[in-house]
Amino acid sequence: MKIFLIAASLLFVSFNPIQRSTVADIVFKNGNVYTANDQAPKAEAIAVKGDRIIFVGTNAAAQKLVGPNTRVVDLKGRTVLPGFTDAHQHLSGVGQREMTLNLEGTTSLEDLLAKVKARVDQAKPGEWVTGRGWIETHWQPPVFPTRWDLDKVSPNNPVILGRADGHGAVANSAALKLANVDKSTPNPFGGEISKDKQSGEPNGMLLDAAQGLVRRRVPPTTAADDEREVVLGAKRDVELGWTQVQDAGGSYAEVDIFKKLYAAGTLKLRIYKAVYGPGPQANRLLNEGAIIGEFGNRLTVRTIKVVSDGALGSRGAALLGPYSDAPDTSGFLTVKAEDLRPMLIDALKKGIQVETHAIGDRANRFILDEYETALKAVPVSERKVAEPRWRVEHAQIVNPADIPRFAKLGIIPSMQPSHAIGDLFFAPSRLGIPRLKGSYAWESFIKSGVVVPGGSDAPVERGEPMIEFYAAVARKDQKGFSGEGWHPEEAVTREQALKMFTIWPAYAAFEDKLRGTIEVGKLADLTILSADIMTIPELEILKTRCVMTVINGEIVHEAT
Ligand SMILES: [Zn+2]
Repeated sequence: MKIFLIAASLLFVSFNPIQRSTVADIVFKNGNVYTANDQAPKAEAIAVKGDRIIFVGTNAAAQKLVGPNTRVVDLKGRTVLPGFTDAHQHLSGVGQREMTLNLEGTTSLEDLLAKVKARVDQAKPGEWVTGRGWIETHWQPPVFPTRWDLDKVSPNNPVILGRADGHGAVANSAALKLANVDKSTPNPFGGEISKDKQSGEPNGMLLDAAQGLVRRRVPPTTAADDEREVVLGAKRDVELGWTQVQDAGGSYAEVDIFKKLYAAGTLKLRIYKAVYGPGPQANRLLNEGAIIGEFGNRLTVRTIKVVSDGALGSRGAALLGPYSDAPDTSGFLTVKAEDLRPMLIDALKKGIQVETHAIGDRANRFILDEYETALKAVPVSERKVAEPRWRVEHAQIVNPADIPRFAKLGIIPSMQPSHAIGDLFFAPSRLGIPRLKGSYAWESFIKSGVVVPGGSDAPVERGEPMIEFYAAVARKDQKGFSGEGWHPEEAVTREQALKMFTIWPAYAAFEDKLRGTIEVGKLADLTILSADIMTIPELEILKTRCVMTVINGEIVHEAT
């Protein structure tokens, strides 16, 4: 009955748009519109006034809202989706990758060297060249670059280039010299200076903590750099079709930058920001209270980000049993229960959301236990927000027995499809085939009754909506490969994937009444694509481009 009434009221809105005098600011017509609204999933046209959607329906009915000053955008059949949200991104990190040499997608050593040479040619004498994003796994042969490779294109300027995962970097001879790293330099704690087998000379590769030996010689960033990182990160996001990013951790220093840029009108992207805790940043949020929907519903800060373990690649993820390929370790937790508990209680009383990084099955069980204890200790009557929508970021390797606990406790697993199609190349050796059941288990989670907001974790991954959407529906690598233990049954349908990047992240941000679907009354955020990703063959999703991005009723990006 309720559904019938909603459907009836939508029809009413659609065919009796508003008073005769109402005129739209923009009408989008001839669109292939997917609304992510189950009651009215498809439409041809959308009308926008101010920051809101005022009409969703047919071309003919939309025409009645066109006045002399209305901009009419003929979409010529292009696909329109609710504005895409990246539910887990590190915005400043994405900007930093843009500001320095962005090496994502580097296909070979030659390709890497050509990119470095182009940058060195523009650098001043002695100026540092820094970059990030290369990964050699698919190069021929798949070997690390060396200092001597880099010396060929940069004999004088110091160079350091981070591997995509952040766990290694290659430096050239000029950089190693400035850092006084040579044959006799001992490995620092938690790191390794990789050496040439014959000569014993450092070969340029610096692993984990050893990167610091060179990185501390790089001049620190200025306040202007920090601001520019946000501007460039947001520009890239908007061009790719993201309308909001949920920024997974950071500090009030970044919040201050966002406020300044929003006030100046230079930042259009919506940012749902978390700050790290337990500690001073979280305490400030607990004391000052949340910032909700400032700058035209663009900026919200209401979440504490906790990190409860490491990552699977470096065997830092906390597992319930030993690693299959390193039986002497089962990873480690990175937060103490006694530090966490008082903060969780306080957060519930004050209406602050908590999101926790948990990769391994032990970390996931640990945080579910801690959340459960806090939820029991603070009954609904004592909470500022009755339904706190606490999240687990990654929820990557979860014991099947723990999956139903998310729905039972109202906890949201926030997951990154691209992690699966990268990690599944080494996850079988780390975990063993049996433990892959319950890993990257998107469909099992959805069936258990929770929503699964989708994110990219950029700059750890590329941060492209089409890669994430493809990974979610295909569960294959970008060439279409899928191997033993990849669990194809955990791929999601296209309708589910659409929700993963629209209404589900909106729900996880308490914004499901405000945005996330194309419906009358909601904020006018749209992602318009070159192809219909709801129907085209899987691999073509990766070739699809964003042609227009609309935020708050404003066209903020238009492909030329
Ligand atoms: Zn992250």
